[in-house]
Amino acid sequence: MLSVIIPSYNEEEMIAKTAQTVFAVLEQEAVDCELIFVNDGSSDRTQEEIDKAAAEDPRVHYVMFSRNFGKEAAIFAGLAAAKGDCAAVMDCDLQHPPAVLTQMYRLWEQGYEVIEGVKRSRGEETGFHHLSTKIFDRIMTKAVGQDMAMASDFRLLDRRAVDAVLSLHEQHPFFRALSSWVGFKTAQVKFTVARRQSGSSKWSVKALIKYAISNIAGFSSLPLYIAGGAGAVCLIAFLAGLIRMIILAAIGSAPAASSGIILVMLLLAGILMLALAVIGFYLARIYDEVKGRPRYIISRMK
Ligand code: UDP
Ligand code: MG
Repeated sequence: MLSVIIPSYNEEEMIAKTAQTVFAVLEQEAVDCELIFVNDGSSDRTQEEIDKAAAEDPRVHYVMFSRNFGKEAAIFAGLAAAKGDCAAVMDCDLQHPPAVLTQMYRLWEQGYEVIEGVKRSRGEETGFHHLSTKIFDRIMTKAVGQDMAMASDFRLLDRRAVDAVLSLHEQHPFFRALSSWVGFKTAQVKFTVARRQSGSSKWSVKALIKYAISNIAGFSSLPLYIAGGAGAVCLIAFLAGLIRMIILAAIGSAPAASSGIILVMLLLAGILMLALAVIGFYLARIYDEVKGRPRYIISRMK
């Protein structure tokens, strides 16, 4: 059986349509399946729509969060609830074409354990969003060691890969990267990102920035190295200033006293503070992990 996990946040217009479309496609291919809607603290009628779909079809299940915990938490809750021999994750807005789902399923039947949906193009991103995702993808590609520019959350995992991903207990999981990181026999399927059928994108610029910072910190210590590098540059500058002063003193011309040194010291202090701030950020994350808070709190599930 295939479990299809669908994170849903304020998707009242999409629930019924998505359920119908996915069932239709999978029935046509005679794939046994269950749908798991994860209602990520929606404030609209999403839950009513899910209840309706669940009443109509026993293959519809759901997990309802007590508030909005974010898409990553929703994906992990869905994976934990999945009973299938394999599980796929797809968006609720049909931007991930359900036809590709059967393609993924066939690859799974052939023995692949992680089937990654890879975007053909980035769609209609413009301006700030385009630039920031480009920088983000660069850093993530380096940190994960796999091309993340076209990677997506649209993936199908074998039970073993699902269990492996679930065994990772980090507080800030990044599914797209972790499901590649766990390894297993991997295949890729290219897909074209469809237009969102209705509703609007749930990502604000603020949410995207938070997401990027969190995921970079989760996979990369690059910010630490940057601060360290800047610190080294400062020290070298400081040494150069010192040597210059000594030479000036040696040839008898009065060293241009305080001003230059003070500037260097100020710069140094500034950089050190920055480095401390970065270390503090990582410490905060360690603190988060140590506290071992649950990733989400479920108010009810079927
Ligand atoms: N989503 C979620 N929690 C959130 C934000 C989004 O579960 O806090 C879901 C959303 O309902 C959709 C998927 O994640 O099924 C992708 O979101 P969206 O379509 O807004 O992102 P985009 O396609 O614009 O990147
Ligand atoms: Mg979308």
